[in-house]
Order: sequence, then structure tokens, then C-alpha cells
Amino acid sequence: MSGTAYVGIGSNLDDPLAQCEAGLAALQGLALEPVAGSPWYGSTPLGPAGQPDYVNGVARLRTALAPAALLAALQRIETERGRRRDGPRWGPRRLDLDLLLHGAHQCAGPTLTLPHPGLTHRNFVLVPLLDLAPDLRLPDGTPLRVIAGRLGRQGLWRLRSPGAAGTGVLPPLAGPVRVR
Ligand code: ADP
Ligand code: MG
Repeated sequence: MSGTAYVGIGSNLDDPLAQCEAGLAALQGLALEPVAGSPWYGSTPLGPAGQPDYVNGVARLRTALAPAALLAALQRIETERGRRRDGPRWGPRRLDLDLLLHGAHQCAGPTLTLPHPGLTHRNFVLVPLLDLAPDLRLPDGTPLRVIAGRLGRQGLWRLRSPGAAGTGVLPPLAGPVRVR
């Protein structure tokens, strides 16, 4: 059984843009087709004060992995990329890969909730998600565009243009440039 999944990518440590691009590249290993990547955004952090700004984006992948197996694979990539799990919740992290949506799957278990519980509250997730899939809806049919419109774009800024969209080819790294 294959399906289309959306993965939120975030980092605010150790060259966040490079961490996010490495995370995006690693997702290709889980996909049946070239992974599409959204533009990257900068965002001001939730959670403990005083941590660096985040880089965030979203990837779309067609995968043969069922939701639980995909989450396990995402956590493996986080760990391989040097993420530590002993910090505070919402504290700084090298790479965060969240399973936002997996087709129309819905579940609320001890290790996996779908859609991702933060999806409808976080503009740094919804804005890049809608860049990739402007007409995407929640499994209950609610257009995500409507929810994103309510959240606005506070604390969010666009970085340089997308690298991997539709091609699977990553561009050379450059420093983050704000393009408002
Ligand atoms: P967050 O991403 O919410 O800031 P973490 O990455 O530390 O926090 O995730 C905490 C836990 O959330 C993980 O151990 C994971 O089991 C659980 N979780 C539940 N649903 C999901 C999901 N859809 N995607 C990713 N993690 C999830
Ligand atoms: Mg996470």
C-alpha cells in the first residue's frame, strides 16, 4: 500500500538551513518518487525563551511505508543526524521531522497522532505545506487554507527559494537570505 505523506522539517541548531536540507535529502531514501520540498522559512521559536530562530519547511513524499513505520524511519533519521532526546520539550533541536499527514489516516495513539496535533496551530507548518499543496484538506474535509488564513504569518519569514521541489536535486548551500 503506498500513500502520500507530508513531513514537517525544522531545526534551530548547528546551521539550521543545512540541517533541514540534509533532512530533506534523507527523506528521499523513504520515497518511491522524487521528494518535493517547500521553500524554507525562518520562524521565531515556540517554547523556552532565548533559543535561536528556526528554519522550517515541508516535504511531500510518496511512500510504501505505513504511518507507524514512517514515523519510526523519521525518528531514525533525526537520531542519525545527531538529534538528542534529553533536552526540554520544544527546546532547541538539530533536526525535527514531524509526520503531518499520511493520506487520510487518522489516529490518536501513544506514539502517533494523525493529523499531527500541532498542524492546525502552527503557521510555520501550514504556510510551507500550502506552498506545496494549496488545495490540501484535513481528513474531515476542512481546507487547510482556511485555517492558515486565521493564523496569519506573524513570526514567519521566507528564506531563499526552494531547492528540491519536484526534482530531487539539492542546490548548493548558501546563507539564509530574507526575502519578505
Ligand atoms: P514536537 O515535534 O511536538 O516538538 P517531538 O519531536 O519531541 O516534539 O515529538 C514528541 C513525540 O511526539 C514523539 O515521541 C512522537 O512519538 C510523538 N508524535 C505523535 N504524533 C506524531 C506525529 N504525527 N509526528 C511526529 N511525532 C509524533
Ligand atoms: Mg517532532
